[in-house]
Amino acid sequence: MKFMYLGTAAAEGWPAVFCQCDFCKEAERLGGKDIRTRAQALINDDLLIDLPPDTYMHKLRHGLDLTKVQHLLITHCHMDHFYPQELSVRGSGYSHNMASPDLHIYCAQETKDFFYRCSGWELDEASDEAMHWHILTLFETVQAGPYRVTPLPAHHMSSEHQPFIYHIEDADGVSVLYLHDSGYYAPEVWTYFKSMKKSADLVSFDTTCGEIDTHCGGGHLGLPDVVRVRDEMKAIGAIDAHTRCIANHFSHNGHLLHNQLVEAGKLLGLDISYDGKIIEL
Ligand SMILES: [Zn+2]
Ligand SMILES: [Zn+2]
Ligand SMILES: [Zn+2]
Repeated sequence: MKFMYLGTAAAEGWPAVFCQCDFCKEAERLGGKDIRTRAQALINDDLLIDLPPDTYMHKLRHGLDLTKVQHLLITHCHMDHFYPQELSVRGSGYSHNMASPDLHIYCAQETKDFFYRCSGWELDEASDEAMHWHILTLFETVQAGPYRVTPLPAHHMSSEHQPFIYHIEDADGVSVLYLHDSGYYAPEVWTYFKSMKKSADLVSFDTTCGEIDTHCGGGHLGLPDVVRVRDEMKAIGAIDAHTRCIANHFSHNGHLLHNQLVEAGKLLGLDISYDGKIIEL
């Protein structure tokens, strides 16, 4: 499995769209891995996780053929994870020679409703028909082409907008836990982690709060929280010595620039994401 981080920032991006704080100014000065766009990941070339407003930038930056994407998983409908208007230019006269005209979208009912509220009026019939919506139920595994996808509840926002974190396994049993966006997980999620037949190959942790210790009290985590959660997951076998543990989804409010994150990560046993990072599993 090839796993690629396309964007690794929280909602406002880093440097943030409308910010002149010291952390944004420093990121802007440093450039490179300190430029973080809104969170999105691609598995192989056919499964996309989330559709942020920076999707188009990701296509340009990384030379992606997004027409190969057959499966789109949406974690939740915060705008940094789902910018519905982008789908209105998929298909019809806007898109030619698509590798896969059909797109399967996996999400909560509220996310689908949100899409039609925002973009339904802009869709023509053919584009609408090419989108196949799969409404997910918590803990019920669905088959998305070669991938088995299990949605788990995120601890993140009000339950009227059910947010998901995902366990994704490919046909060879290689698996990823994509834990964005979420604070500390509910007891049922821990029961699920315990029941996994094998430990995950990659775990991507929400690290929005950077150096701040939230004491696992909010809808996001900081590095000290991630270490505690990682160690708890190790203790129940969801993570073992071979698992790639990666901190991801960073904000200027968490204060740590890329090099500082890498230094902290070395001490804590965590790898640090950056836009364009590829992990072969
Ligand atoms: Zn987010
Ligand atoms: Zn800032
Ligand atoms: Zn969010």
